[in-house]
Formats: sequence, structure tokens, C-alpha cells
Amino acid sequence: MTQLQSDSALRLGRVGGLELSAERSAAWSMAALWISLSAIGVWLLGFGMWEAILGGLLAVVVHWVSDFLHQYGHAIAARRTGIR
Ligand SMILES: [Zn+2]
Repeated sequence: MTQLQSDSALRLGRVGGLELSAERSAAWSMAALWISLSAIGVWLLGFGMWEAILGGLLAVVVHWVSDFLHQYGHAIAARRTGIR
């Protein structure tokens, strides 16, 4: 089996026979995105502080889930064409 992930990647488990992992920078990127979206909520959209923080978190979760589904689609397509 080919090793595509770095040794520093966080192992997240297996889903449908596929190994899940994330680079450590993904956690920092998600935190930066959460803070940025929360700030946009407060300063540009006029939300209250807690509304903006929860909205920012919800947006990050929706982003993460949609990215996961997108990448999972690539993995399924690769598997169907014989790539292991
Ligand atoms: Zn893609």
C-alpha cells in the first residue's frame, strides 16, 4: 500500500475501509477560519458576540463536512478505477 500521508498527520480512524487523516495544519486552519468568520459576523453582519461565535463554528463544521464528502468522493472514484 502506498503511503500518501506524512508521519505528522493526525489519524482520525477508518470510514468504509478508508483510512482518514488530517495534517496538523488543518486544525490551525480551522481555528483561523472560525475566528475570521466570527469576526465577520460581529463587525460586518452585526451579529451579537455569541451568535457570531456559534455561527462561525457552524460554518466551519459545514465546511469541514462538505470537504470530507468531496475528498471521500475522490477516494471512492480512485478505488473504482483500481487505485489503492
Ligand atoms: Zn476535488
